Amino acid sequence: MPLFTAMRTQYNPGMSEASSAKPAFGTVFGEHLPIVRFDGENWSAVEVVPTSSVSFGVAAHCLHYGSECFEGMKAHKQADGSVKTFRANRNIARMRQSAASLHLPIPTTEILEQLVSAAVESNLNIVPDAPGALYLRPNLVGTDLNIGSASKPSKTAALYVIASPVGAYLPPHMLRISVETDIPRTTPQFGQVKCGSNYAMALGVILKANKDHNADQVLFAPGGFIEETGAANFFLLEEGHIITPPLSGSFLHGVTRDSLLQLARKLDWKVEERAVSVEELVNWCARPNAEAALAGTAAILGGVGTLIVRGEDVTVGTGQTGPGTKLLRNMLTEIQVGKRSFEFQD
Ligand SMILES: *Cc1c(COP(=O)(O)O)cnc(C)c1O
Repeated sequence: MPLFTAMRTQYNPGMSEASSAKPAFGTVFGEHLPIVRFDGENWSAVEVVPTSSVSFGVAAHCLHYGSECFEGMKAHKQADGSVKTFRANRNIARMRQSAASLHLPIPTTEILEQLVSAAVESNLNIVPDAPGALYLRPNLVGTDLNIGSASKPSKTAALYVIASPVGAYLPPHMLRISVETDIPRTTPQFGQVKCGSNYAMALGVILKANKDHNADQVLFAPGGFIEETGAANFFLLEEGHIITPPLSGSFLHGVTRDSLLQLARKLDWKVEERAVSVEELVNWCARPNAEAALAGTAAILGGVGTLIVRGEDVTVGTGQTGPGTKLLRNMLTEIQVGKRSFEFQD
């Protein structure tokens, strides 16, 4: 078994067509990796290399001083067999903002577009059928080989897009989410930056919630107002009504969040972007039609059945996925695979 697991996490050089097996989300990688490097002045031309061929020196700036950021988006097989990315322009813009926040070289929009297109085109043979998708993971890393540069930005960088065929990300059960009111997920000014250190910083709280409460994730609500979970945005909803915290620097501005709000507005739902206290959250759960869900590219929209507040289980509505969550999730997934058309505003 361990050997099998290890093999699955290799770069699958022999994988030539979409597999019907269901490996864990994010553990199978396409063979082809489009990459560019920044030498301190210029970006190189896009090159597509074997995914397993890329290496960095152990002194690389990203490995010591956290100069790295990433993105996550999906390309979906359409009914006509073509493959389309979903709102990739939003991920590209966000990656450029993350790069700026970390003082990494900022790739041009054009370079990012070329890399994303090349990642899809060179890995077309492994795009799974819906509901699967090809997950795309752009990664920008500082590559200066200088362990004395703690207070200097990396002048050089590498930027590449990993392709990974994926199925479901969330477990099949209704989610159990523990609410954390003391410890923030990250620092307020880096909440909206998709940088690796944010996730490692949140692990202590998440692992403790797993252990103490069998929680799947943590909803961070520092100071008693909800922000987001460890890797997804959070919503209260019922059919016809959706509530989520307003954008701020302290949480990640999800493309899925924005897409769902646009769909809810299109449906003439009452859409509220406002502060939500933990007290309101608890009161909301007591309503018979109450729903709560978390949203992100990987998760899409996952129903929350139970919140753990101050150590006590609080059931959300009936504890089952409600009609509002189902409706929004179906609309979004239909748009992604081209079964339904919708023009998102950027
Ligand atoms: C990526 C991410 C999200 C979701 O963003 P999407 O653009 O919808 O995928 C939410 N929260 C965190 C912390 C994230 O890293």
